[in-house]
Amino acid sequence: MTTAQDLAPSFEPQPTPLALLLLGREADPKSERGVDCPGDLPSPSDPDLVERARVAKEKLGDKVFVLGHHYQRDEVIQFADVTGDSFKLARDAAAKPEAEYIVFCGVHFMAESADILTGDDQKVVLPDLAAGCSMADMATAEQVAECWDVLTDAGIAEQVVPVSYMNSSADIKAFTGKHGGTICTSSNAKKALDWAFEQGEKVLFLPDQHLGRNTAVRDMGMSLEDCVLYNPHKPNGGLTDEELRAAKMILWRGHCSVHGRFSLDSVHDVRERIPGVNVLVHPECKHEVVAAADYVGSTEYIIKTLEAAPAGSKWAIGTELNLVRRLANRFAAEDKEVVFLDKTVCFCSTMNRIDLPHLVWALESLADGKLVNRIQVDKETESFAKLALERMLALP
Ligand code: SF4
Repeated sequence: MTTAQDLAPSFEPQPTPLALLLLGREADPKSERGVDCPGDLPSPSDPDLVERARVAKEKLGDKVFVLGHHYQRDEVIQFADVTGDSFKLARDAAAKPEAEYIVFCGVHFMAESADILTGDDQKVVLPDLAAGCSMADMATAEQVAECWDVLTDAGIAEQVVPVSYMNSSADIKAFTGKHGGTICTSSNAKKALDWAFEQGEKVLFLPDQHLGRNTAVRDMGMSLEDCVLYNPHKPNGGLTDEELRAAKMILWRGHCSVHGRFSLDSVHDVRERIPGVNVLVHPECKHEVVAAADYVGSTEYIIKTLEAAPAGSKWAIGTELNLVRRLANRFAAEDKEVVFLDKTVCFCSTMNRIDLPHLVWALESLADGKLVNRIQVDKETESFAKLALERMLALP
């Protein structure tokens, strides 16, 4: 993300460990699964990259299925067999059992979900292992186990049903399955919460506090006071036992660093700049942003809303910039003005790690018979995570 302040002459960028990992060449022991892409990546300036990707993909034929998340770069999306959100892509992969290799152009938790939902003989590949998700990283298995102990000590664990957002690691999905809970997406969060409140009296919502709060307050009529925020970095989650017992929604203190950028000022500012603009945001945005928006929904909802919008309408979109830019180009031809909600540049930096050199490297390696960057969830984790996913699939 670059702001005007960042570009001021006095700004001196400091080297960070991540700067050394831009092409995923080195190992990062602190990363969720380590970051190491063996072999030589093609140079980003190689003029033949597009042709190399095309040739490798053609050589692999039906053996490979390339999935492209909506937030991926255009240079990668052009090689995707299907595009969509993480859950749609995992299901698309499962519906393609003849594809031996699933190349997931997205982030780590998405590749894990695809591995869980696809057959044992299908191998899921993430072109750059450094493509994690900051939100998914905000809830680790150890922290969530500790939280469950806190709820047990407060005497409420038996009343609590975990509901985990798709944007979580396989470990967290497995925890959810093991404790009688379900997974949700940004499209079906209300249905998942309705189901959970039929099973118990309280919900532990992981890891995105904003989706949990927005769904509870905006869609289910709860008050902000019904929700408490569990901070895994504080003793007892920063809450008293009384607060935990009084709460209906126990929200994990996690958020998306991209959608968390949008503020109430962004909404006021765009309404001033573009009279008559419709503000359409993703429910991972903060509650005050969602409350000030005209429309709220998942990426699929955002795309459908723009498809159905009349010519001449104006839209400010609060979601990741790669998608907004693609939508702006697509709908300009239909005389619909689409702009990014914020004034600063706001890509998902980890999504952007999957670039053409990594895709070419992955496809050429597979075409040469070399399996690289496989994402594989262990059997026990997979079985409990699948249980939670199946509960979601069974939602009305
Ligand atoms: S946009 Fe947010 S939730 Fe999605 S992968 Fe990036 S950091 Fe994670």
